[in-house]
Amino acid sequence: MARVYNFSAGPSMLPEEVLKTAAAEMLDYHGCGQSVMEMSHRSKEFDEIIKSAEALLRELMNIPENYKVLFLQGGASTQFAAIPLNFMNGSGKADYVITGNWANKAFQEAQLYGDAKAVASSKDKTYSYIPKLSRDMFRQDADYAYICMNNTIYGTVYHEIPDTGDVELFADISSCFLSEPLDVSRFGLVYGGAQKNIAPAGLTIVIVREDLLGKARDITPSMLNYKIHADADSLYNTPPCYTIYICKLVLEWLKSIGGLEEISRRNHAKAKLLYDFLDESKLFRGTAAPEDRSLMNVPFVTGDADLDAKFVKEAKEHGLVNLKGHRSVGGMRASIYNAMPIEGVQALVDFMKQFESENS
Ligand SMILES: *Cc1c(COP(=O)(O)O)cnc(C)c1O
Repeated sequence: MARVYNFSAGPSMLPEEVLKTAAAEMLDYHGCGQSVMEMSHRSKEFDEIIKSAEALLRELMNIPENYKVLFLQGGASTQFAAIPLNFMNGSGKADYVITGNWANKAFQEAQLYGDAKAVASSKDKTYSYIPKLSRDMFRQDADYAYICMNNTIYGTVYHEIPDTGDVELFADISSCFLSEPLDVSRFGLVYGGAQKNIAPAGLTIVIVREDLLGKARDITPSMLNYKIHADADSLYNTPPCYTIYICKLVLEWLKSIGGLEEISRRNHAKAKLLYDFLDESKLFRGTAAPEDRSLMNVPFVTGDADLDAKFVKEAKEHGLVNLKGHRSVGGMRASIYNAMPIEGVQALVDFMKQFESENS
């Protein structure tokens, strides 16, 4: 069996050890004679799985005790509506920073519910940078300020958490979840879909400070009400059980290799390898502003759409798959999430060098 290096932006690679454990436990989980896919979400076995997933996440991310961890469905995109419904209920104002499609979709959804304002945007340069922010840009009576921490499509990331003054900061961390240490206490809420760095699709994790809960609008559907899920320990309805189980295995894997310090070291080494090559290449160039470059998503181009297509096609023949850029930007994008080994990035760089010498 030949496994490829999969550079997909999501769903994406999972650690091989995790897939092997899942395969070995598929028919009989820990001697209970059932697969995790088949068991009741109220069973003792599943209770242990979801509780240890939460405990591991708290330990790895150093999540303060006054934060709730919610295991939900609906993808990150459902939270675009859940966030205003749960929190845009004081002044009815919320301030958004528009750094790409995901931030913009969240902003558009919030406009359905109240006075959502775009306080800054990097649209003028195809979202290739993170705008400079200062606290006076945020309305100090806003119910929250919102950022998309890592911009999956454009390959930018906030290397510093912005100062929003007294305004609670919320962040979509879908594509940088668990990629390096993050000071959760600086945020009122962080959340993300699991399919980039944590698990298969189907799970969305919300980490929210407890005192912010309980202010949802009356019209909030129960399934979007964070307080209801928090009070039910994420078992208000059937959670995505199997995905939570894989999430637990991934968290165990992360802990076993040395936690976020170690994964951060590995991710920095992987990104450096690729960016260093892009900076010296005469054929390829990275499209994100160097000071805002993402560790996880690396978009690049040759400047010639036909050559880009040829590259993507030939890379695939070399076992380097899903390198086509997002349809809104074209070119290429290598997503190098936690589970991508450095050998995969090295194989990509080697192939890019070969392609460069054959095509220039
Ligand atoms: C992938 C992604 C989303 C959308 O996630 P879904 O789970 O498909 O709704 C939102 N935000 C960011 C930053 C993403 O990378």
